[in-house]
Amino acid sequence: MTMKLKIMAAAACFAVAAFATMAQTRVVAHRGYWDAPGASQNSIRSLIKADSIGCWGSEFDVWMSVDGSLFVNHDATINGVEIQSSRARDIKQQRLSNGEFIPTLKQYLQAGSKLKTQLVLELKEHRDVHHEAKAVRKILKMVRKMGLESRMTYITFSLPALIEFIKWAPAGTEVYYLDGDLSPAKLKHLGAAGLDYSLRTMKQHFAWFEDAKRAGVKVNVWTVNDEADMQWCIENGADFITTNAPERLQHLLDNSK
Ligand code: MG
Repeated sequence: MTMKLKIMAAAACFAVAAFATMAQTRVVAHRGYWDAPGASQNSIRSLIKADSIGCWGSEFDVWMSVDGSLFVNHDATINGVEIQSSRARDIKQQRLSNGEFIPTLKQYLQAGSKLKTQLVLELKEHRDVHHEAKAVRKILKMVRKMGLESRMTYITFSLPALIEFIKWAPAGTEVYYLDGDLSPAKLKHLGAAGLDYSLRTMKQHFAWFEDAKRAGVKVNVWTVNDEADMQWCIENGADFITTNAPERLQHLLDNSK
């Protein structure tokens, strides 16, 4: 084989390998596809929109009220009402910016049950670790009753909640850690499916992409909105990218084929 042919063959192999890597990256809409008409972050509308454009998954945030009701909201408070220290009856009356009432987790999962997108549930870090552990059990019970176990992925910044999910979720459920302070090998040891770390953390710990492959865990990177950053994650073999711009990422992945 001439040198030129060898170079061409190597380039072809590289292209195939790059394609294989790119084809694997899945799109997760961050707090749903909220940057769409009529949607707002964590609204049921944003979940439906994420599904309608074919996102692999749609992420949302969960808090538990002081009397044990689960709600979908990003911030600790909604219209000045703090969820973890308030009663459900006071939280239910609150509206999102698109006019929807704050969804309960049950309403959110009911909407999700009619869709195909994976439900990427983030349990927020609560002040009381026992309250948080109770939230994990309640979530898993509700999901089981609704027959949605295979549709769920769990993520959390809270190490105690991570451990609770791993302990109580059915075998095969994927649980990811968000906080960025544990290596892939440590997460594997804990029984997590992988790391769900910020772009900044992954840039600082570049070797974790390779370490994750070696440890047999997956990598999700958040919140990646810029095309060059998306490309960087794809080239490094990210299994998932969580983004506020799912259509931009889908377009990029389509053009990489
Ligand atoms: Mg979140």
